[in-house]
Amino acid sequence: MLVQAESLKRIVLAILEKGGSSNNESQVVAEHLVRANLAGHDSHGVGMLPFYVKMLKSELLFPNQEPQMEKTNGSIMMFDGKRGYGQAVGKMAMEQAIEKCRETGLVLMTLRNSHHLGRIGTYGEQSIEAGMVSMHFVNVTDHFPLVAPYRGSDARFSTNPICLAMPGTKKQSPVLLDMATSRIALGKARVAINKNETLDDGLVIDHKGQPSNNPGVMAGYLYPEREDNPPLGALSPLGEYKGYGLALFCELFGGVLSGGGTIQPGNKRHDSIINNMFTLLINPVKLVDIPWMHHEIEEITSFCKKSPPANPEEPVLIAGDPERFCEKERKANGIPIDKTTWGQILEGGETLGLSRIEIEKMI
Ligand code: NAD
Repeated sequence: MLVQAESLKRIVLAILEKGGSSNNESQVVAEHLVRANLAGHDSHGVGMLPFYVKMLKSELLFPNQEPQMEKTNGSIMMFDGKRGYGQAVGKMAMEQAIEKCRETGLVLMTLRNSHHLGRIGTYGEQSIEAGMVSMHFVNVTDHFPLVAPYRGSDARFSTNPICLAMPGTKKQSPVLLDMATSRIALGKARVAINKNETLDDGLVIDHKGQPSNNPGVMAGYLYPEREDNPPLGALSPLGEYKGYGLALFCELFGGVLSGGGTIQPGNKRHDSIINNMFTLLINPVKLVDIPWMHHEIEEITSFCKKSPPANPEEPVLIAGDPERFCEKERKANGIPIDKTTWGQILEGGETLGLSRIEIEKMI
Protein backbone atom coordinates (compact mmCIF):
# COMPACT_ATOMS: atom_id res chain seq x y z
CA MET A 1 0.00 0.00 0.00
CA LEU A 2 1.02 3.63 -0.49
CA VAL A 3 1.04 5.87 2.59
CA GLN A 4 1.67 9.60 2.59
CA ALA A 5 4.75 10.69 4.56
CA GLU A 6 2.72 12.80 6.98
CA SER A 7 0.36 9.93 7.88
CA LEU A 8 3.28 7.58 8.38
CA LYS A 9 5.00 10.12 10.62
CA ARG A 10 1.82 10.42 12.74
CA ILE A 11 1.71 6.65 13.20
CA VAL A 12 5.41 6.36 14.08
CA LEU A 13 5.10 9.29 16.49
CA ALA A 14 2.15 7.69 18.29
CA ILE A 15 3.98 4.36 18.66
CA LEU A 16 7.17 6.04 19.91
CA GLU A 17 5.25 8.10 22.46
CA LYS A 18 3.54 4.92 23.68
CA GLY A 19 7.05 3.53 24.08
CA GLY A 20 7.87 6.32 26.55
CA SER A 21 9.62 8.86 24.30
CA SER A 22 8.99 12.56 24.84
CA ASN A 23 7.14 14.37 22.08
CA ASN A 24 10.40 15.98 21.00
CA GLU A 25 12.28 12.67 20.79
CA SER A 26 9.36 11.02 18.97
CA GLN A 27 9.36 13.86 16.42
CA VAL A 28 13.11 13.50 15.78
CA VAL A 29 13.00 9.70 15.42
CA ALA A 30 9.80 9.72 13.32
CA GLU A 31 11.21 12.43 11.03
CA HIS A 32 14.44 10.43 10.59
CA LEU A 33 12.67 7.14 9.81
CA VAL A 34 10.15 8.61 7.37
CA ARG A 35 12.91 10.60 5.68
CA ALA A 36 14.82 7.34 5.14
CA ASN A 37 11.72 5.92 3.42
CA LEU A 38 11.35 9.07 1.33
CA ALA A 39 15.01 8.70 0.28
CA GLY A 40 14.24 5.13 -0.84
CA HIS A 41 16.09 3.44 2.02
CA ASP A 42 13.17 1.38 3.31
CA SER A 43 15.72 -0.80 5.10
CA HIS A 44 16.32 2.11 7.51
CA GLY A 45 12.83 3.54 7.57
CA VAL A 46 9.67 2.80 9.52
CA GLY A 47 10.26 -0.94 9.08
CA MET A 48 12.82 -0.63 11.91
CA LEU A 49 10.11 0.36 14.37
CA PRO A 50 9.00 -3.17 15.38
CA PHE A 51 12.65 -3.96 16.19
CA TYR A 52 12.90 -0.82 18.34
CA VAL A 53 9.73 -1.85 20.21
CA LYS A 54 11.28 -5.25 20.87
CA MET A 55 14.47 -3.58 22.13
CA LEU A 56 12.46 -1.26 24.42
CA LYS A 57 10.68 -4.25 25.92
CA SER A 58 14.02 -6.03 26.44
CA GLU A 59 15.50 -2.90 28.09
CA LEU A 60 18.25 -2.72 25.50
CA LEU A 61 17.05 0.68 24.22
CA PHE A 62 16.27 3.58 26.56
CA PRO A 63 14.07 6.49 25.57
CA ASN A 64 14.84 10.15 26.34
CA GLN A 65 18.62 9.93 26.60
CA GLU A 66 21.03 12.77 25.92
CA PRO A 67 24.59 12.22 24.70
CA GLN A 68 26.94 12.42 27.63
CA MET A 69 30.22 14.26 27.05
CA GLU A 70 32.95 11.84 28.11
CA LYS A 71 35.99 13.87 27.06
CA THR A 72 36.62 17.16 25.37
CA ASN A 73 39.95 18.65 24.48
CA GLY A 74 40.44 21.36 21.86
CA SER A 75 38.64 20.08 18.76
CA ILE A 76 37.93 16.65 20.18
CA MET A 77 34.50 15.71 21.51
CA MET A 78 33.79 12.23 22.79
CA PHE A 79 30.19 11.29 23.62
CA ASP A 80 28.38 8.30 25.08
CA GLY A 81 24.87 7.73 23.72
CA LYS A 82 23.73 5.71 26.76
CA ARG A 83 21.79 3.24 24.58
CA GLY A 84 19.38 6.01 23.63
CA TYR A 85 17.62 6.23 20.24
CA GLY A 86 20.54 6.82 17.85
CA GLN A 87 18.47 9.19 15.75
CA ALA A 88 18.02 11.47 18.79
CA VAL A 89 21.42 11.23 20.52
CA GLY A 90 23.15 11.33 17.12
CA LYS A 91 21.36 14.55 16.18
CA MET A 92 22.20 16.18 19.52
CA ALA A 93 25.88 15.16 19.37
CA MET A 94 26.10 16.48 15.80
CA GLU A 95 24.52 19.80 16.87
CA GLN A 96 27.21 20.28 19.51
CA ALA A 97 29.99 19.28 17.10
CA ILE A 98 28.71 21.68 14.42
CA GLU A 99 28.59 24.52 16.93
CA LYS A 100 32.21 23.92 17.93
CA CYS A 101 33.32 23.53 14.31
CA ARG A 102 32.09 27.04 13.48
CA GLU A 103 35.01 28.38 15.60
CA THR A 104 37.65 25.67 15.32
CA GLY A 105 37.21 24.71 11.66
CA LEU A 106 37.78 21.07 12.47
CA VAL A 107 36.10 18.75 14.96
CA LEU A 108 36.65 15.10 15.67
CA MET A 109 33.48 13.87 17.33
CA THR A 110 32.92 10.32 18.46
CA LEU A 111 29.66 8.86 19.71
CA ARG A 112 29.72 5.45 21.33
CA ASN A 113 27.07 3.22 22.82
CA SER A 114 24.23 4.71 20.84
CA HIS A 115 21.34 2.49 19.82
CA HIS A 116 20.80 2.15 16.02
CA LEU A 117 21.76 5.47 14.37
CA GLY A 118 19.55 4.70 11.37
CA ARG A 119 20.42 6.26 8.02
CA ILE A 120 23.88 7.78 8.44
CA GLY A 121 23.19 10.17 5.53
CA THR A 122 20.94 12.10 7.94
CA TYR A 123 24.03 13.25 9.87
CA GLY A 124 25.74 14.18 6.59
CA GLU A 125 22.65 16.22 5.73
CA GLN A 126 22.81 17.89 9.13
CA SER A 127 26.37 19.07 8.46
CA ILE A 128 25.51 20.11 4.88
CA GLU A 129 22.66 22.26 6.25
CA ALA A 130 25.25 24.02 8.43
CA GLY A 131 27.54 24.53 5.40
CA MET A 132 30.05 21.95 6.68
CA VAL A 133 31.83 18.99 5.18
CA SER A 134 31.66 15.71 7.13
CA MET A 135 32.94 12.16 7.16
CA HIS A 136 31.37 9.42 9.24
CA PHE A 137 32.68 5.91 9.92
CA VAL A 138 30.31 3.70 11.88
CA ASN A 139 30.57 0.18 13.27
CA VAL A 140 27.81 -2.07 14.55
CA THR A 141 28.15 -4.08 17.75
CA ASP A 142 25.91 -5.86 20.26
CA HIS A 143 24.71 -7.88 17.27
CA PHE A 144 25.97 -11.04 15.63
CA PRO A 145 28.10 -10.42 12.52
CA LEU A 146 26.42 -10.39 9.10
CA VAL A 147 29.15 -9.77 6.51
CA ALA A 148 31.92 -12.14 5.45
CA PRO A 149 35.48 -10.79 5.10
CA TYR A 150 36.90 -11.04 1.56
CA ARG A 151 37.96 -14.66 0.95
CA GLY A 152 36.02 -15.78 4.05
CA SER A 153 32.90 -17.95 4.13
CA ASP A 154 31.08 -16.80 7.23
CA ALA A 155 30.09 -13.48 8.84
CA ARG A 156 32.69 -11.65 10.95
CA PHE A 157 31.53 -8.00 11.01
CA SER A 158 28.45 -5.98 10.15
CA THR A 159 27.34 -3.66 7.34
CA ASN A 160 29.51 -0.86 8.81
CA PRO A 161 28.36 2.30 6.99
CA ILE A 162 30.44 5.24 5.75
CA CYS A 163 29.05 8.63 4.87
CA LEU A 164 30.87 11.52 3.15
CA ALA A 165 29.07 14.85 2.76
CA MET A 166 29.87 18.01 0.80
CA PRO A 167 27.56 21.04 0.65
CA GLY A 168 25.89 21.96 -2.63
CA THR A 169 25.88 25.22 -4.55
CA LYS A 170 23.19 27.24 -6.33
CA LYS A 171 23.52 24.98 -9.36
CA GLN A 172 24.56 21.65 -7.82
CA SER A 173 22.78 19.74 -5.06
CA PRO A 174 24.94 18.50 -2.16
CA VAL A 175 27.10 15.46 -2.77
CA LEU A 176 26.16 12.81 -0.24
CA LEU A 177 27.78 9.40 -0.39
CA ASP A 178 26.04 7.28 2.22
CA MET A 179 26.66 3.58 1.99
CA ALA A 180 26.99 0.28 3.76
CA THR A 181 30.39 -1.37 3.21
CA SER A 182 28.56 -4.57 2.34
CA ARG A 183 27.07 -4.93 -1.12
CA ILE A 184 23.65 -4.46 0.49
CA ALA A 185 22.38 -3.55 3.96
CA LEU A 186 20.71 -6.37 5.94
CA GLY A 187 17.43 -4.43 5.70
CA LYS A 188 17.52 -4.86 1.92
CA ALA A 189 17.50 -8.64 2.42
CA ARG A 190 14.62 -8.17 4.91
CA VAL A 191 12.66 -6.18 2.33
CA ALA A 192 13.36 -8.88 -0.34
CA ILE A 193 12.24 -11.66 2.06
CA ASN A 194 9.10 -9.71 2.97
CA LYS A 195 8.29 -9.14 -0.71
CA ASN A 196 9.25 -12.68 -1.72
CA GLU A 197 11.85 -11.46 -4.22
CA THR A 198 15.27 -12.84 -5.21
CA LEU A 199 18.54 -10.88 -4.93
CA ASP A 200 20.91 -9.86 -7.73
CA ASP A 201 24.18 -11.76 -8.19
CA GLY A 202 27.09 -11.18 -5.79
CA LEU A 203 25.13 -9.78 -2.85
CA VAL A 204 25.05 -12.78 -0.49
CA ILE A 205 26.77 -16.12 0.00
CA ASP A 206 25.25 -19.31 1.35
CA HIS A 207 26.41 -21.30 4.40
CA LYS A 208 29.19 -22.87 2.31
CA GLY A 209 30.54 -19.51 1.12
CA GLN A 210 29.06 -20.00 -2.36
CA PRO A 211 27.30 -17.17 -4.28
CA SER A 212 23.51 -17.18 -3.81
CA ASN A 213 20.46 -15.16 -4.95
CA ASN A 214 18.29 -16.28 -2.06
CA PRO A 215 17.68 -13.51 0.54
CA GLY A 216 16.49 -16.36 2.77
CA VAL A 217 20.13 -17.15 3.65
CA MET A 218 19.83 -14.06 5.92
CA ALA A 219 16.40 -15.04 7.34
CA GLY A 220 17.89 -16.85 10.32
CA TYR A 221 19.33 -13.53 11.52
CA LEU A 222 16.08 -11.62 10.96
CA TYR A 223 13.43 -14.16 11.90
CA PRO A 224 15.16 -16.74 14.14
CA GLU A 225 11.75 -17.95 15.37
CA ARG A 226 10.79 -19.27 11.90
CA GLU A 227 11.41 -22.96 11.45
CA ASP A 228 11.82 -23.13 7.66
CA ASN A 229 14.85 -20.82 7.33
CA PRO A 230 17.69 -22.11 5.12
CA PRO A 231 21.09 -22.45 6.85
CA LEU A 232 22.73 -19.10 7.66
CA GLY A 233 24.75 -17.40 4.93
CA ALA A 234 26.36 -13.95 4.93
CA LEU A 235 26.33 -10.65 3.09
CA SER A 236 29.26 -10.03 0.71
CA PRO A 237 31.54 -7.03 1.29
CA LEU A 238 31.44 -4.19 -1.20
CA GLY A 239 34.24 -4.18 -3.81
CA GLU A 240 35.96 -7.34 -2.59
CA TYR A 241 39.09 -6.56 -0.49
CA LYS A 242 38.64 -2.77 -0.82
CA GLY A 243 35.21 -2.77 0.83
CA TYR A 244 36.45 -5.30 3.36
CA GLY A 245 39.29 -2.87 4.19
CA LEU A 246 36.84 0.03 4.60
CA ALA A 247 34.61 -2.09 6.85
CA LEU A 248 37.61 -2.95 8.99
CA PHE A 249 38.39 0.77 9.32
CA CYS A 250 34.82 1.35 10.53
CA GLU A 251 35.70 -1.07 13.34
CA LEU A 252 39.02 0.69 13.96
CA PHE A 253 37.78 4.30 13.75
CA GLY A 254 34.12 3.89 14.81
CA GLY A 255 34.68 1.06 17.29
CA VAL A 256 38.17 1.60 18.72
CA LEU A 257 38.62 5.40 18.71
CA SER A 258 35.12 6.02 20.11
CA GLY A 259 35.92 3.70 23.02
CA GLY A 260 32.78 1.71 22.17
CA GLY A 261 34.64 -1.42 21.04
CA THR A 262 34.56 -3.65 18.00
CA ILE A 263 32.45 -6.66 17.07
CA GLN A 264 35.22 -9.07 18.11
CA PRO A 265 33.65 -11.98 20.03
CA GLY A 266 35.29 -11.07 23.37
CA ASN A 267 32.86 -8.13 23.59
CA LYS A 268 29.44 -9.12 24.95
CA ARG A 269 26.50 -9.16 22.48
CA HIS A 270 22.86 -8.80 23.57
CA ASP A 271 21.22 -9.39 20.19
CA SER A 272 20.49 -5.69 19.86
CA ILE A 273 22.22 -2.98 17.77
CA ILE A 274 24.76 -0.50 19.04
CA ASN A 275 26.33 1.96 16.61
CA ASN A 276 29.61 3.69 17.38
CA MET A 277 30.34 6.65 15.13
CA PHE A 278 33.58 8.45 14.30
CA THR A 279 32.86 11.84 12.70
CA LEU A 280 35.18 14.43 11.22
CA LEU A 281 33.58 17.80 10.66
CA ILE A 282 35.31 20.45 8.58
CA ASN A 283 34.30 24.05 8.18
CA PRO A 284 35.40 24.78 4.59
CA VAL A 285 35.45 28.55 5.27
CA LYS A 286 38.65 27.96 7.26
CA LEU A 287 40.34 26.32 4.26
CA VAL A 288 39.24 27.80 0.96
CA ASP A 289 37.42 30.69 -0.62
CA ILE A 290 33.74 29.60 -0.76
CA PRO A 291 32.83 31.04 -4.22
CA TRP A 292 35.89 29.22 -5.63
CA MET A 293 34.88 26.01 -3.82
CA HIS A 294 31.37 26.26 -5.30
CA HIS A 295 32.80 26.84 -8.76
CA GLU A 296 35.02 23.75 -8.45
CA ILE A 297 32.14 21.62 -7.11
CA GLU A 298 29.95 22.67 -10.04
CA GLU A 299 32.68 22.07 -12.61
CA ILE A 300 33.78 18.66 -11.38
CA THR A 301 30.24 17.31 -10.93
CA SER A 302 29.18 18.67 -14.31
CA PHE A 303 32.31 17.14 -15.92
CA CYS A 304 31.29 13.75 -14.48
CA LYS A 305 27.63 14.08 -15.47
CA LYS A 306 28.51 14.98 -19.06
CA SER A 307 30.19 11.64 -19.65
CA PRO A 308 28.11 10.02 -22.42
CA PRO A 309 26.05 7.30 -20.72
CA ALA A 310 26.96 3.75 -21.63
CA ASN A 311 23.22 3.05 -21.62
CA PRO A 312 21.21 6.05 -22.88
CA GLU A 313 18.48 5.25 -20.34
CA GLU A 314 20.93 5.57 -17.45
CA PRO A 315 22.70 8.94 -17.28
CA VAL A 316 25.65 9.52 -14.94
CA LEU A 317 24.48 10.56 -11.48
CA ILE A 318 26.12 12.20 -8.49
CA ALA A 319 25.96 10.54 -5.05
CA GLY A 320 22.77 11.76 -3.42
CA ASP A 321 20.81 11.97 -6.70
CA PRO A 322 18.94 8.66 -6.38
CA GLU A 323 17.68 9.68 -2.93
CA ARG A 324 16.60 13.14 -4.17
CA PHE A 325 14.71 11.62 -7.14
CA CYS A 326 13.05 9.06 -4.90
CA GLU A 327 12.04 11.70 -2.36
CA LYS A 328 10.37 13.79 -5.05
CA GLU A 329 8.44 10.81 -6.36
CA ARG A 330 7.42 9.48 -2.93
CA LYS A 331 6.37 12.91 -1.67
CA ALA A 332 4.02 13.08 -4.64
CA ASN A 333 2.72 9.49 -4.68
CA GLY A 334 3.25 8.15 -1.16
CA ILE A 335 5.62 5.65 0.44
CA PRO A 336 5.12 1.97 -0.46
CA ILE A 337 4.74 -0.23 2.62
CA ASP A 338 4.60 -3.97 2.03
CA LYS A 339 2.08 -6.18 3.82
CA THR A 340 4.59 -7.90 6.11
CA THR A 341 6.18 -4.64 7.25
CA TRP A 342 2.74 -3.09 7.84
CA GLY A 343 1.69 -6.14 9.89
CA GLN A 344 4.87 -5.87 11.96
CA ILE A 345 4.25 -2.15 12.61
CA LEU A 346 0.66 -2.87 13.75
CA GLU A 347 1.92 -5.65 15.98
CA GLY A 348 4.63 -3.37 17.43
CA GLY A 349 2.00 -0.71 18.23
CA GLU A 350 -0.24 -3.35 19.80
CA THR A 351 2.59 -4.54 22.06
CA LEU A 352 2.69 -1.01 23.48
CA GLY A 353 -1.08 -0.78 23.91
CA LEU A 354 -2.07 0.98 20.69
CA SER A 355 -4.83 -0.94 18.91
CA ARG A 356 -4.69 -1.76 15.19
CA ILE A 357 -7.91 0.22 14.69
CA GLU A 358 -6.37 3.30 16.33
CA ILE A 359 -3.29 3.03 14.09
CA GLU A 360 -5.28 2.42 10.92
CA LYS A 361 -7.40 5.50 11.64
CA MET A 362 -4.22 7.63 11.43
CA ILE A 363 -3.65 6.91 7.72
P1 NAD B 1 22.88 2.47 -1.73
O1 NAD B 1 23.72 1.37 -2.28
O2 NAD B 1 21.48 2.57 -2.19
O3 NAD B 1 23.58 3.88 -2.07
C1 NAD B 1 24.90 4.15 -1.67
C2 NAD B 1 25.34 5.50 -2.16
O4 NAD B 1 25.54 5.45 -3.58
C3 NAD B 1 24.34 6.63 -1.95
O5 NAD B 1 25.04 7.78 -1.52
C4 NAD B 1 23.73 6.89 -3.33
O6 NAD B 1 23.36 8.26 -3.53
C5 NAD B 1 24.88 6.53 -4.21
N1 NAD B 1 24.44 6.06 -5.54
C6 NAD B 1 23.53 5.10 -5.80
N2 NAD B 1 23.40 4.93 -7.14
C7 NAD B 1 24.27 5.79 -7.72
C8 NAD B 1 24.63 6.09 -9.07
N3 NAD B 1 24.08 5.46 -10.11
N4 NAD B 1 25.56 7.05 -9.30
C9 NAD B 1 26.14 7.71 -8.26
N5 NAD B 1 25.85 7.48 -6.96
C10 NAD B 1 24.94 6.52 -6.71
O7 NAD B 1 22.93 2.47 -0.12
P2 NAD B 1 23.31 1.26 0.89
O8 NAD B 1 24.75 1.00 0.83
O9 NAD B 1 22.38 0.14 0.63
O10 NAD B 1 22.95 1.91 2.31
C11 NAD B 1 21.59 2.17 2.63
C12 NAD B 1 21.44 2.91 3.91
O11 NAD B 1 21.73 2.04 4.99
C13 NAD B 1 22.36 4.11 4.10
O12 NAD B 1 21.56 5.21 4.44
C14 NAD B 1 23.26 3.72 5.29
O13 NAD B 1 23.61 4.81 6.12
C15 NAD B 1 22.37 2.78 6.02
N6 NAD B 1 23.10 1.84 6.89
C16 NAD B 1 23.06 2.03 8.24
C17 NAD B 1 23.69 1.13 9.08
C18 NAD B 1 23.65 1.31 10.57
O14 NAD B 1 24.19 0.47 11.27
N7 NAD B 1 23.06 2.34 11.10
C19 NAD B 1 24.37 0.03 8.55
C20 NAD B 1 24.42 -0.11 7.17
C21 NAD B 1 23.78 0.79 6.33
